[in-house]
Amino acid sequence: MDEILQVIRENENFTLAGHTGPDGDAIGSCFALALALDKMGKNVRVLLEPYALKYKIIPGKQFLVPMKCNPNDPTKSESIFDLEENFQPEVFIAIDCAAPERMGLSQPFFERAKVTVCIDHHETNDGFAMHNYIEPTASSASEMTLRIIEGFTDPTPDIAAAVYAGMVSDTGGFRYNATAISTMKTAARLMEMGIPFTQIYNELMHMHKFAAGKILGLALQNSKRTRSKKIVYTCVTRDMLKSVRANLSDLDGVVEYLMGTRKALAAVFVYEKGLSSGEVKVSLRSQGPNMANVAAKLGGGGHALAAGATVSGKVHAVMKKTVALVVKEVVAYEVQQNRNN
Ligand code: 5GP
Ligand code: MN
Repeated sequence: MDEILQVIRENENFTLAGHTGPDGDAIGSCFALALALDKMGKNVRVLLEPYALKYKIIPGKQFLVPMKCNPNDPTKSESIFDLEENFQPEVFIAIDCAAPERMGLSQPFFERAKVTVCIDHHETNDGFAMHNYIEPTASSASEMTLRIIEGFTDPTPDIAAAVYAGMVSDTGGFRYNATAISTMKTAARLMEMGIPFTQIYNELMHMHKFAAGKILGLALQNSKRTRSKKIVYTCVTRDMLKSVRANLSDLDGVVEYLMGTRKALAAVFVYEKGLSSGEVKVSLRSQGPNMANVAAKLGGGGHALAAGATVSGKVHAVMKKTVALVVKEVVAYEVQQNRNN
């Protein structure tokens, strides 16, 4: 951490990025650090792919680099960041990214940066940057980012709100195992700074678009479970999304809802990402069995209790393969449990 504070002290121009398909933790961390660096008079820009509406409540949007369509291939709907093609960041800070590939559209700028820094809490992170601050036990990258910020300035209420949003988001509203006493103490300290904590919590944990409710309904209607009742799974296709006018960002709550099923030890949610790319996203949640192992076998990563992967293939085939891998992890977990008892 001291190394990173030194990099911050000694440089003026910072490019921050979170992972592809940004969630509250990626956004909250980037915006909090951007606000803090700006407060110190540094130049700062944030590279984040488009994100769900609910995250608009997080302060710091003014630092976002806008997106534009790809001029090399206008037929591609995929966008790129509105930056000079050869833009070379002075300091690039990747936050909440377990591996360089997780940066998505911002990865080329990381590769070109003079100095690279990584702040992350994924256990699969192997320290790919020049300076790494990795703490797998941290409940969120935002909490870690706050520690860095406090190393060089006092957080403002906006910084506190961004960090709080990241913490709420990655702990599932302070529900997950990784939520520590220190997490709640940090949250309390942020609340004391006069942030609109009820509003942030409600916006991130409860509010959703009408279409998101519809697609959740379809996903649950089609859900299945294994005979043991220990694995609940479902999938969503592009056609299903279209039928209720929903898009990918409306799928946030599905896997969590599955995981709330009584008797379930693991939840699998698979959905089609691209129209024609054949890319399929796998989302995994667990109450014990190690999902990071499953995700690794699919070329992805994550935490023991929440992991994911992006796979090419047909959605039903990917779901079948994933469930088979999860079955093995559930069996391994139960063998271990029996041994412990
Ligand atoms: P989610 O299911 O919410 O998208 O992701 C849960 C966790 O799994 C994330 O925090 C991230 O660590 C990991 N994850 C999700 N998708 C991918 C992916 O495509 N590749 C990798 N390496 N990790 C992923
Ligand atoms: Mn995170």
